[in-house]
Amino acid sequence: MSTSSSTNVIPGASSSSSSSVDVETLRRNRILSSKLYFDVPLTMAPLIYSSSYDIAFFGIEKLHPFDSSKWGRICQFLIKNGVLERSRIVEPLEASNDDLLVVHTESYLSSLKSSYKVAIIIEVPPVALLPNCLVQQKVLYPFRKQVGGTILAAKLAKEWGWAINVGGGFHHCCADKGGGFCVYADISLCIIFAFTRLNISRVMIIDLDAHQGNGHEMDFGNDSRVYILDMYNPDIYPFDFKARTYIDQSVQVQSGTPTQVYLEQLDKALEVAGNNFNPELVLYNAGTDILDGDSLGQLKVSPDGVASRDEKVFRFAKEKNIPLVMLTSGGYMKSSAKVIADSLTNLSIKGLIDLAAPPLGT
Ligand SMILES: [Zn+2]
Repeated sequence: MSTSSSTNVIPGASSSSSSSVDVETLRRNRILSSKLYFDVPLTMAPLIYSSSYDIAFFGIEKLHPFDSSKWGRICQFLIKNGVLERSRIVEPLEASNDDLLVVHTESYLSSLKSSYKVAIIIEVPPVALLPNCLVQQKVLYPFRKQVGGTILAAKLAKEWGWAINVGGGFHHCCADKGGGFCVYADISLCIIFAFTRLNISRVMIIDLDAHQGNGHEMDFGNDSRVYILDMYNPDIYPFDFKARTYIDQSVQVQSGTPTQVYLEQLDKALEVAGNNFNPELVLYNAGTDILDGDSLGQLKVSPDGVASRDEKVFRFAKEKNIPLVMLTSGGYMKSSAKVIADSLTNLSIKGLIDLAAPPLGT
């Protein structure tokens, strides 16, 4: 258990001593020299994915109660649905150690050199027995690619109005602590990069994964630049009561909540959020573990309910003309990939996103 306070490691939340100024300069230099932001031509779609997102080796995918190749399957469904052209997918770069240090502590990143530590964070005990080089290559590298995707998504969202990282959304990880399958704090990193590189100073996190997003809550607890709306089931992991005190707008949905009730709660929540805060970027954590049948999320939302939920959030941002980043986050049932692809297809039909190639001559 770490004894340091995560809320002190994010800029803006620390005191202004000379050492913190040095830390701030170093952080800024790391952000400005990062290669994760690169220019993407408008002939591409702001949909980010790499085949290296998918984790599958030695049957690890069978050890965890989830579909660890859902990210690739989402894209396959989209291409099959005729919504997306493969050539328009944007491949992100891997977040480097310097990129990760923008938010993470040196000691936390060093601790990942222990396979045992990684096994605990991702909740796959046999990983503890593997040589760390293999864990780096087969587990942490895919995650670092997903982190690169989340960070890039903010840049693309500012240019296109929206961007989707087909992975990411590791909302249980903060600067100095991972957990619940979340090794890197991609949401915190994305926001801190956006502050410096995109001239953004107000971000709203809309976290609709079934679980409480304790990672970003710990990182931005005392930071007035970030407004957190978290709609979560209080009866499941992570039971982080300290992090709950940092949520600006908490909407608790109990186990068994059905679709209609869930969507009514969301309507009210978005209205309140829009009145409370005027963001320059919305970061939407769109976990699908709210689905009926997900043993981890314990809610009872239908596949159509997930599509309605996503549509409401996209409309919320579009009506206010706020760039939106969507991350797929939790939800690893075999059906999740198709539900996500169907929801993105619905967004495309409704004209809220456009993943097809632009007509010739435009
Ligand atoms: Zn979750």
